[in-house]
Amino acid sequence: MSESNLAARSDGLEGQVSGARVIAQALKTQDVNYMFGIVGIPVTEIALAAQEVGIRYIGMRNEQAACYAASAVGYLTGRPGVCLVVSGPGLVHSLGGMANANMNCWPLIVIGGSSERSQETMGAFQEFPQAVRSSIYGRPGACYVDIPADFVSLQVNVSSVKYVECCMPPPISMAETSAVRVAASVIRNAKQPLVIIGKGAAYAHAEESIRTLVEQCKLPFLPTPMGKGVIRDNHPNCVAAARSRALQFADVIVLLGARLNWILHFGLPPRYQPDVKFIQVDICAEELGNNVRPAVTLLGDVNAVTKQELASKKSLPMNYYTVFYHVQEQLPRDCFVVSEGANTMDIGRTVLQNYLPRHRLDAGTFGTMGVGLGFAIAAAIVAKDRNPGQRVICVEGDSAFGFSGMEVETICRYNLPIVLLVVNNNGIYQGFDKDSWKEMLKFGDATTVAPPMCLLPHSHYEHVMTAFGGKGYFVQTPEELQKSLRQSLADTTNPSLINIMIEPQGTRKAQDFHWLTRSNL
Ligand code: ADP
Ligand code: MG
Repeated sequence: MSESNLAARSDGLEGQVSGARVIAQALKTQDVNYMFGIVGIPVTEIALAAQEVGIRYIGMRNEQAACYAASAVGYLTGRPGVCLVVSGPGLVHSLGGMANANMNCWPLIVIGGSSERSQETMGAFQEFPQAVRSSIYGRPGACYVDIPADFVSLQVNVSSVKYVECCMPPPISMAETSAVRVAASVIRNAKQPLVIIGKGAAYAHAEESIRTLVEQCKLPFLPTPMGKGVIRDNHPNCVAAARSRALQFADVIVLLGARLNWILHFGLPPRYQPDVKFIQVDICAEELGNNVRPAVTLLGDVNAVTKQELASKKSLPMNYYTVFYHVQEQLPRDCFVVSEGANTMDIGRTVLQNYLPRHRLDAGTFGTMGVGLGFAIAAAIVAKDRNPGQRVICVEGDSAFGFSGMEVETICRYNLPIVLLVVNNNGIYQGFDKDSWKEMLKFGDATTVAPPMCLLPHSHYEHVMTAFGGKGYFVQTPEELQKSLRQSLADTTNPSLINIMIEPQGTRKAQDFHWLTRSNL
């Protein structure tokens, strides 16, 4: 059929345009590109007009299948597919597809023809952009547009038709920042976390951000049936093969665009721990808190919220595991490890590896604080004679360092290239952060109100080293720690002290979960 014939098909007189064509053009303007359906009176013209404006039309054999197809196109492309049906039975058949699209949270527009109406109601043309918006904004879903038959065949002046501009892509909403921080901290303190990836995450194109989160934080993940493939199934962190166990033993579950419905056993015991903490990320406020009471709810787009979590993770203070993980990564295998402190020594022992006998010195049988720098000096002197170049790493708690800190002068006097690490939590076992310390002093003199465990927060122990000419570093992030360790270990002539600030209350004991040690989350 020639262009002019085509035009004649839906456009009658010169300068006039049919209702069908207006509908088709309005859809095309909204970037709707696929139409499924079964034609009949009065919608046949709409299908023809759709083809004319460049929308693909796929004629199906039952409206239900057409509606399923249109909704799947919506999920796959992010723009709603159209299901075109006739009034009465056609519409009834499409109900299954609409319900399914709604349950799946997939965008869909169903257009049904209906019997003629008086021309006064023609403003309904303007409803199209709203239909597109409501199908893709917020939680995606089905919407239905009723087109009276006389609309389809009506001829109007081209000049009188105004197409509403293509609606903007769905606005991206982010979660409340305080909730994001709480979530980051809950994840970090989890013993057995689990990320569940649902089809909401797939629809949100959140694959990059979720993979980064899973890999950076070494989190195990489980996809739902249609969450499969957001991260490849053969990824080492995928625990799909142990699905039941993963669900049953998780103490923290991060739900990314998945609902706690029957597919996930409603999030309830016995399939889950009774006290499992859910962190629920969903774009639909009504979904939050459904079936369980989540520890944290994050209302927003799963991709945006995952990025927020990644950014928030960076601002969290380090904990022991993070510190020791990065230290262990860089320790020379043949080095001496001297260690003293409480948590610093206990947790450090589980993470820092020794490969040689007589190369670890710590508080020993008597549990003595104050031995560290003396031991380190001895090791450095022996190493100098026996094995020049062999390094001595002295890992001190901030309290432990205080017992013999002045021996730094000795270290500098003899120019012993010891790497001193002070793992600083502002106290013995635990301390206060700067703000809490200040707040506390409002209630009285430090001698009466300060918990005996507290030391002065934010003490710059590295200055003890620089005072005598060695290198001093003050570090607060994993990146700063890695860099200062690299520099200290590369310097084979000068001693250095790295003052490592960690979470003041981060006194968690060692756990048998290697991933805990590997990141800042
Ligand atoms: P699954 O079957 O994979 O578990 P569900 O259909 O149960 O997935 O859950 C999908 C969830 O994803 C829905 O609650 C929906 O509101 C949500 N969702 C859809 N799009 C987004 C998005 N962009 N960001 C966050 N959540 C989304
Ligand atoms: Mg689900």
